[in-house]
Parts: sequence; structure tokens; C-alpha cells
Amino acid sequence: MRYCKNCLQPDTRPNTRFSQDGICPACTYYSKHKEVDWAERTQIIHRLAQSYKNPAAQYDCIIGVSGGKDSVRQALWVRDYLKLRPLLVCLSYPPHQVTDIGVDNLSNLIELGFDLIQVCPAPETWRKLMALAFEKFANWARATELALFSAVPRLAIDYKIPLILWGENPGLQLGDLGTLGRTGYDGNNLRNMNTLSGGSNDWMTSAGFGKKDLIAYNYPSAEEFLEHNIQIIYLGWFLGDWSLNNNAMVSALNGLSVRHDSPSNTGDLYGVSSLDEDWVTLNQMIKYYKFGFGRASDYANEMIRMGTFTREEGIDVVKRFDGACSEKYIADFCDFIGITNTDFWEKVRSIVNPDLFDLTGNMITPKFSVGKGLS
Ligand SMILES: [Zn+2]
Repeated sequence: MRYCKNCLQPDTRPNTRFSQDGICPACTYYSKHKEVDWAERTQIIHRLAQSYKNPAAQYDCIIGVSGGKDSVRQALWVRDYLKLRPLLVCLSYPPHQVTDIGVDNLSNLIELGFDLIQVCPAPETWRKLMALAFEKFANWARATELALFSAVPRLAIDYKIPLILWGENPGLQLGDLGTLGRTGYDGNNLRNMNTLSGGSNDWMTSAGFGKKDLIAYNYPSAEEFLEHNIQIIYLGWFLGDWSLNNNAMVSALNGLSVRHDSPSNTGDLYGVSSLDEDWVTLNQMIKYYKFGFGRASDYANEMIRMGTFTREEGIDVVKRFDGACSEKYIADFCDFIGITNTDFWEKVRSIVNPDLFDLTGNMITPKFSVGKGLS
């Protein structure tokens, strides 16, 4: 395990590759920000927006939303600055999973004047797939993320709206290099991201789920994209100040409700991530045990790049909050998928990376030191 020399990104992130100087892709991307010709990018996005305006149709584009900080910022920017007419699409969590804040934030988007379609996959299939994914991969979101990502292009095809606007470019802004497209804003390779490309769906079909059960979980193929002229565009490439904090600030000024739980329960320094449900926090903890970094790292890295944190301040925060997860979230999750707390920890311990952590009894202790790596 090596850390980026600038931030606290370890090279254990899937699909990442550091430069020869030991710098992570996201830091390389941000370091070039000052040289970017933002006026040129503004011209490009206005030209693109113009080419997709379709007075004969009800909508010019689709934006996938959760109601959270990125959604609000994107929706407002697209409507009020680019002057496009977006249809917002939200894949809803089942009633047991969605939070009150999540519901409030969707209402907020509607109150801001947007049309919004909610896609709600059958809750019982959702729950069973979640339980199966946790049992097989210690990752309950394996199936549900497929549904989250697939809802938008499936609706784009069904509603004949060829332009999909997406926020972050995971290749440039996170370092998931498989997603890079022909240009910095071409998002049609989003299908290669770690979440979507993690093997076939055989694990679902061999467990007895039929084709019809899984319609919501199928990301349209490259051929379908071509046939329907679907184009995904990453808006983050055009917005020099795209960040967790800036998006949260803009959105809070436009009615976003945020989380009031402490970072020691969530690893979330400002309470602005994954507002619509509580169990992504579990997955962030499990990610930490697999790869040695969690949600606090994502915050710290961004703040180091922006100059808000020194590397030392980042190390302090990451040490304290990476891998944090409230017992209450774990208990609610176990209750939902029908397992005991002992089952849960047995599964988690089975996936702990033995190169990175010591496992003694119930204790899981890191072998690495944050910012330095393995000694
Ligand atoms: Zn870095």
C-alpha cells in the first residue's frame, strides 16, 4: 500500500494508477485546474446544450437525482444557466430504507419547480437481492447500485430523450480510469466503472431471479446506447468549483436538508453525503476493511487538494473517522435483511484484507499508518 504523495489516496483504490512521481489521478487532474481554459469549456457546454434543445419535445435532457447536494446543484445549473428543460429521474429506495431527510430533499426539488419521475423497483426483490449480495460479496449494494445507475439510461431510451447529464467524472475526479471517454465530458464509458463492471449478473440468475425480476437491474448495452443515440455528459468537467463542499453549500442555500449525526457515526465530516439512506455508511466501513480507505478519506483528499486542509490535518481526520459506522445503522440493516449482528460481523471479518489489517478475536486493527502506508 502506497499513499499519494500529495493527498491521502492509497493505491489500493480499484482501477487506479499513480503517476511515476507517486501522485494519484485525482491530484494530477486538480493540479491542472489552473491551466484550464474555463471560457473555452463554457463555450463547449453552451454549444452542446444548444444542439440538444428540442422545442418539439417536452424535455431536452434527463438528470439522475437522489435529492442530495449534487442533484440540486446540477438541476439548477442545467435549467437556470444552460436554459435546458430537464426531466429529473430518481430511483427510490424502499420505504424501510429511505430516510426522512431523503424524502424532504426530493420534495424540495419538486418545490423548486422540476418535473420528477420516481422509479421504485419491487421492494421484496430489492430486499432479497440485498441479502444475497451481502452474503456473497459482503456488499449489499452490488445489485441496488446497478438499479441506481440503470434507471436513468433506461428511461432516456423509453422516453426518447437522448441527452443524459451526469455530475462527477469518476475517471478524472476519483481516479476510476476505465470510465474515461473520448473527451473529458464524454460519459458513455460510465458502464466501465468499478460498480457497473464487477462481473456478470449470473449470481442473481443462478439464485433463481428471473429476467423479469431483474429488468430494473440491467444497464443498457453499448449497442442500445448507439441505437438510441444516447449521450452521457459529465457536468463536473465544466464546473471548476465542483466539489463536495461547494455543491453542498449551493444546495443548502436552495433548501437542501442535511444530516445531523456526528462523524463518529458516519465518517461524514459535514453530514452532506448519502442523505437519502443510512446503510451506505456500512458499505463505506466495509470498503475501509477491504482497501484501507473510507468516506473520511474522500473528504480529506478533496480538502487537501483545495488547500483547506494540510496533509497533517487530513491524516488526523482520516485516523479518527475512516471506517466509522453507528451500531444503530448496523442493527437496522441486519433487521431488514434478516440476519443477526453475529452473522454480520462474521461476514465482515471474512473480507478484511489481511495485508492491511490484523484480526485478533473481535478486534480489527490497521497494520498501516495513514499517510505513510505499510511499514
Ligand atoms: Zn492524491
